[in-house]
Amino acid sequence: IRLQNGSQTEIVSTRHFVNAAGPFVQNVAAMLELDLPVFHELHVKIAFRDPLKIIPREAPLLIWTDPAILPWSEEERDSLNQSEETRYLLKEFPSGVHARPEGGAGSDTVLILWTYDVKTVDPVFPFSVDPHYPEIALRGLSLMIPGLRAYFGRMTKPVVDGGYYTKTRENRPLIGPLPIEGAYIIGGLSGFGIMAACGAGELLAASIAGNDLPPHAAAFSLARYEDPEYRKLLGSWGETGQL
Ligand SMILES: Cc1cc2nc3c(=O)[nH]c(=O)nc-3n(C[C@H](O)[C@H](O)[C@H](O)COP(=O)(O)OP(=O)(O)OC[C@H]3O[C@@H](n4cnc5c(N)ncnc54)[C@H](O)[C@@H]3O)c2cc1C
Repeated sequence: IRLQNGSQTEIVSTRHFVNAAGPFVQNVAAMLELDLPVFHELHVKIAFRDPLKIIPREAPLLIWTDPAILPWSEEERDSLNQSEETRYLLKEFPSGVHARPEGGAGSDTVLILWTYDVKTVDPVFPFSVDPHYPEIALRGLSLMIPGLRAYFGRMTKPVVDGGYYTKTRENRPLIGPLPIEGAYIIGGLSGFGIMAACGAGELLAASIAGNDLPPHAAAFSLARYEDPEYRKLLGSWGETGQL
């Protein structure tokens, strides 16, 4: 491994190298002259304060599965309709706005996520976010939780954050050896990498240590794409259900 620090180059020798570069997994693979079957989507979330306690702290993850026409007043509709830049706010948005309380009993923070314009992008930091995103997310969620209308136009300044889902076609991660001896990958963890972290790490460790692998190992190996039967399956995989 070559580390460049200004004009200094440091070489680190290792028997095992793991590509765990998240959205940059492809860039690191390119250093090994490998191409990975992954793509990236930008997903954004807001964290906002709910001092009126509209959403109970014990609420589970809430997902709205209907398409959404955002609620606006007649006056707002007229105003948004005036400009090409804001007219999209009056159109139908896809399903999938979801939210959950964040933090324990003392917290009043709520997270809302809604990737209403999902598309494949190249990962760049910092990324830009639709300036209307917080209002869109809040209004979308208010279709499920009408009490949130109390915050229309007067939400405390939300924290807007996000990142990239790095995905394979079938939304299954890549965990295991790469076709170069001593090189491994743990990536393509999409929108479930925190939940999957322990299982993914355990599988990678078993692979590196040369331990017996569980039956599901083959389903996450990069080598699965060499199997013609698997490739045939991919052709008819359908939607993955990812929000
Ligand atoms: C808005 C949003 C909400 C999410 N919500 C959830 C959720 O509720 N539950 C859940 O399970 N998952 C969630 N995820 C998904 C989860 O965050 C990812 O699946 C997970 O972070 C992927 O882990 P990773 O280690 O592969 O990549 P990352 O967490 O991106 O880590 C990659 C690391 O590699 C480093 N790196 C990159 N290039 C290099 C290089 N050349 N050299 C050295 N280091 C490098 C980066 O700095 C980074 O630290 C969410 C993602 C987003 C964007």
